[in-house]
Amino acid sequence: MTLDELYTHYKNPLNARQKQLIAEAFEFAKAAHAGQKRKTGEDYFDHSVETAAILAEIGMRSKTTAAALLHDVPEDTKVTLEEIRKKFGDETANLVDGITKLGKFKLRGDKKEIQLENLRKIFLAMAEDIRVVLIKLADRLHNMRTLHALPPDKRERIAWETREIFAPIANRLGIGEIKGELEDLSFRYLDPKNYELAKDLLNKEFRERKKDVDITIKELREGLVGNNIKVTDIHGRTKQIYRFFLKLKKHDMDVSRVYDVVAIRVIVPEIADCYEALGIVHKKYRPLVGRIKDYISLPKPNGYRSIHTTVFGPLGKIIEIQIRTPRMHDEAEFGIAAHWIYSSAKTWRDYIFRRYSPEEIPQQELQWVKQLREWQKELGADDQEFMQGLRIDFFQNHIFAFTPKGDIINLPEDATPIDFAYAVHSEIGSRTTGAKADGKLVALDYKIKNGQVIEILTSKDHKNPNQDWIRIARTSYARGRIRAQLRKAGIMVGTVRKE
Ligand code: MN
Repeated sequence: MTLDELYTHYKNPLNARQKQLIAEAFEFAKAAHAGQKRKTGEDYFDHSVETAAILAEIGMRSKTTAAALLHDVPEDTKVTLEEIRKKFGDETANLVDGITKLGKFKLRGDKKEIQLENLRKIFLAMAEDIRVVLIKLADRLHNMRTLHALPPDKRERIAWETREIFAPIANRLGIGEIKGELEDLSFRYLDPKNYELAKDLLNKEFRERKKDVDITIKELREGLVGNNIKVTDIHGRTKQIYRFFLKLKKHDMDVSRVYDVVAIRVIVPEIADCYEALGIVHKKYRPLVGRIKDYISLPKPNGYRSIHTTVFGPLGKIIEIQIRTPRMHDEAEFGIAAHWIYSSAKTWRDYIFRRYSPEEIPQQELQWVKQLREWQKELGADDQEFMQGLRIDFFQNHIFAFTPKGDIINLPEDATPIDFAYAVHSEIGSRTTGAKADGKLVALDYKIKNGQVIEILTSKDHKNPNQDWIRIARTSYARGRIRAQLRKAGIMVGTVRKE
């Protein structure tokens, strides 16, 4: 993709300054990745541009997409984060840094005790700026689109991780567009047989209902215009393959019981128009009892708003109609990203934790803010501990560090490599001879920083901990283990020294 092609993907018009930033990031990243190839055989840089294009399409602007262009530069090229900072400033550099840190987040498939919900929360909590999460989702989406190039076992791990971690996060953030595609792509690799089955069935259904849909669209448009309602857009949509399969399974694979295989979306300018349009739909087509859902007055937890109704269409077939305003439509497709379309960028933490006063928030933002707060409450209900984790002072109390394999170690602030080693395993703790943080040798009393990869150097001959470590360790767990080991080795007697 060329720079000019990339420009065409932006949902928002770009001014000269924004174009300039994108162009600079484009050239900079292109030069940094020069000569690198992906497993698909394409230039590595294509991946960066595709990632930026996905974000442009959901309404993100120049800084986020510039960071997307640069997102793999520090990790995969000789160019450092500091060089990016010098050239592009703190905001873009911090976004790139955040993505690099999140890149270390890997799910090990062999761990049965993985708590998925916790991992989703850790992932979100680690990204201080929600734009980092959005870039990561776009990065993953492009990797999923090109997953065929990887060996089967890798494909399966990535597809599983996508379904369990990334798609639910996209859903939480209300980005239906990305969530749907991530789910379908992972379904394709995790359950190819059912994927093909559902896809074929869906295509067949759509062909059969196409006539019905076309007539309904024509009749509805006439009805709305005849009642002086402006129609911003009206179109048919088919269900996503994975969601269709889940519903099919729920209804004993009986496709005639899935009512929303095909739905018609009616987009009208104002909320009042939505209710008026609903009346017109019901006057024209008989509604099914109990199938009217007003998500405008009662939005879904992820912020989704629309009115849904299911009716007997012009040919007597059941069809779902979804009515919404353009803004609701953008929010349904792009979720949290939509607020960049309607406002200037602020971090999600600001929104959730009221970092600025209510009068600073434009009136139309309030709904979204409310949704995020409700989401926060929802998290709190099922997990007190992680509720704590999502509080604003989170990073003052906790840090996450990684093993070289990508496992996450949760530590208190000021934790040292000794704490890390014991958190991994007490055997590793006692054999510690040194440590590396992000590849550089550090002292054992080094203060680990959030997101660092810590490698513990061990020796088989080094069987017992050093007495000084009790002072160095910050966690009571590590201290306890060190004392127990010292006692066992007869180095330290039963009494506990006061530190
Ligand atoms: Mn990438």
